[in-house]
Amino acid sequence: MEQVELPEPRAVEVDSRKTALIIVDMQNDFAHPNGRLFVPTAPATIPAIKALLDKARKAGVMIVYTQDWHGYNDPEFKIWGEHAVANTWGAEVVDELKPEPSDTVVKKLRYDAFYGTPLEHILRLAGVENLVIVGTVANICVLHTAGSAALRWFNIYLPIDGISALTDFDMKAAIRQVSFLYRGTITRSDLIRFV
Ligand code: ZN
Repeated sequence: MEQVELPEPRAVEVDSRKTALIIVDMQNDFAHPNGRLFVPTAPATIPAIKALLDKARKAGVMIVYTQDWHGYNDPEFKIWGEHAVANTWGAEVVDELKPEPSDTVVKKLRYDAFYGTPLEHILRLAGVENLVIVGTVANICVLHTAGSAALRWFNIYLPIDGISALTDFDMKAAIRQVSFLYRGTITRSDLIRFV
């Protein structure tokens, strides 16, 4: 089998008026050491996400948070155990990245933030064409959301310092799928310019 080379992060300019920053599942259960499904590499991505968030806010870019959000006895608990239970501390976004009142927050049912949610409608109404996607877990909710967005012909930008996974393999698999399959652009938080 052929060896796969992952693309190097590229410098990009994106149109502020047609772009949304999507922050996927940076909730206590995934990104805080006391969380139930803690991803140990997630806290290290917070400064990059914060920097990108500040930059996006200054440029007037639409900000969208997703929150994994489950009722009691959600079937997903058979796979992962109980996590992101509605209205609990674990389901809240980490303190460092708290949403502002004008941000959009989408509570999601499964890995894909579009599945069963009004996310597509919200983005279309705002005239969004480009999505900068960060958060966790890279090969699960980030990848499913990026893939679902790409199927809807949104352009995907993936800053790799803003995503985290449980293993190096999972991280690479997510980057490979986004770049190869979904034709997204692999970049880094400091290489994105909102124009
Ligand atoms: Zn879940």
